[in-house]
Amino acid sequence: MPRRINPPKPAVLPEADAAKPPRPMRATKGAKVAAGASGTTGKGAKAPPVAPAKGKAAKAPASGTAKAAPASKASAGKVAGGKTSTGTKPAGKTAAPPPAPLPRRNKAVANAAAAVHGKTVSPWSDAEITEAFTRFEAQDPEPKGELDHTDAFTLLVAVVLSAQATDTGVNKATKGLFAAASTPAAMVALGEDEVAHHIRTLGLFRGKAKNVVELSRLLLERHAGIVPKDREALEALPGVGRKTANVVLNIAFGVPTIAVDTHLFRVANRTGLAPGATPLAVELGLEARIPDRFKLHAHHWLILHGRYICKATKPACSRCLITDLCRWPEKNF
Ligand code: SF4
Repeated sequence: MPRRINPPKPAVLPEADAAKPPRPMRATKGAKVAAGASGTTGKGAKAPPVAPAKGKAAKAPASGTAKAAPASKASAGKVAGGKTSTGTKPAGKTAAPPPAPLPRRNKAVANAAAAVHGKTVSPWSDAEITEAFTRFEAQDPEPKGELDHTDAFTLLVAVVLSAQATDTGVNKATKGLFAAASTPAAMVALGEDEVAHHIRTLGLFRGKAKNVVELSRLLLERHAGIVPKDREALEALPGVGRKTANVVLNIAFGVPTIAVDTHLFRVANRTGLAPGATPLAVELGLEARIPDRFKLHAHHWLILHGRYICKATKPACSRCLITDLCRWPEKNF
């Protein structure tokens, strides 16, 4: 008795696949599952819901290479009826393309956050927080930032230039820049092209040069050339966000702010000190929990700890002051 094969229904295929040969509904479902899995990264990709999804994606090819022939009449009828076919065999090994990897730095941060948020960790007690900062203080009573500057203005410029750059790289660039212009008026007189020339070794240097000249002009226009001790006024300047304002307020004016950069964000999440999905959440968590007497230097201790000890890819746990307090499950000894 001849086999009857129902023709596939191209009308139900996604628009992106319209040019491809028609295929059973199962293939469309698999493609959707695979796309959902691509949103997970790092540790999060191992979460239970993702594993079976990958399996389905592998069985249900997303490309048009799937064989249209069903394994049985029953399964063919289900496909034609718009239901999931359990009898359709995978055609070949074609699978959905793997998700694009995150940039290395972001992936490290995402891993740190995912590990903490994906597991239940006991929060640090007040006694543990005090103990940790007592140790940081004993080791380095007066921690300093590593950006070269001579006053609030050169500090502000250096921090603006430090976005997506190392402090060492910024210091090399500002050496010549500050020799040529170390005040708002001199920076405006130097002009965008000359500023760009001095900082050309830094990423995004043209945009940064534009911001430095414009913020200098606005300091003259609005604040008589003086860097304001005011968060709102600082954040109104081009290139100045919350983190930059916090650094300037802390270092130049002694305000106990906590500037959360990529290092501090990682440390706060890894250790369990102040887990948070965003820098602001981490900042507010730290402000709420760190005793006042440690707040002025807290961000320096944590940033330096993240930069030199609790590094993104290979944390030096054997040299860590707080390894007994840290909740990170993958310590590196
Ligand atoms: S023990 Fe390791 S992971 Fe934890 S804070 Fe120290 S260096 Fe970082």
